[in-house]
Amino acid sequence: KKRVGVLALQGAFREHRQVLEQLGCEVVEVRKTSDLDGIQGLIIPGGESTTIGKLLRIDEMGEKIKELGAKDMPIFGTCAGMILLSKTIVNSEQYCLNLMDTVVERNAFGRQVASFETDLSVPALGHKPLRAVFIRAPYLREVAPNVGILAEYDGKIVFVRQGNLLASAFHPELTPDHRVHQYFLNMIDEH
Ligand code: GLN
Repeated sequence: KKRVGVLALQGAFREHRQVLEQLGCEVVEVRKTSDLDGIQGLIIPGGESTTIGKLLRIDEMGEKIKELGAKDMPIFGTCAGMILLSKTIVNSEQYCLNLMDTVVERNAFGRQVASFETDLSVPALGHKPLRAVFIRAPYLREVAPNVGILAEYDGKIVFVRQGNLLASAFHPELTPDHRVHQYFLNMIDEH
């Protein structure tokens, strides 16, 4: 059984836990730095990135996650998790993990379309479109050449992979299609 951590400080961690369990993983809810010991991958869920960022400073948990990510452990950030993984956050001084060569803008779809669902074309996941739920979502304004773009919506980058790091602007834990989590588990297998 794969042992996968879900950062459980705030946000949609229970839903990720359920999906991972359905896919046969042993799930560790990560609340303190020592919970990171022995996990093979980590999901950083959606929620409020400033709140999660503040909590990550306690006991240097953020620093430990950074170290694990830099040492090649697979990490998947969804929504607020995508924000926290990015090196640059537009117009914000908030804490981030600085792991991905991406420039992220928070709440980037604007007030009118703050939350919406759409079908995305994600060639890496096969032919069938992926239903994606966006909730006050960010998108990536820029990515370095070493960042692979897995999906765009309306010309905006919403799903990327950089080596052992994966990030989505949407919430794959809220839909019954588990291909995104399966993709992440395959990254753990490759690793
Ligand atoms: N708007 C939130 C933030 O900036 C992210 C929203 C989400 O994770 N669904 O942190």
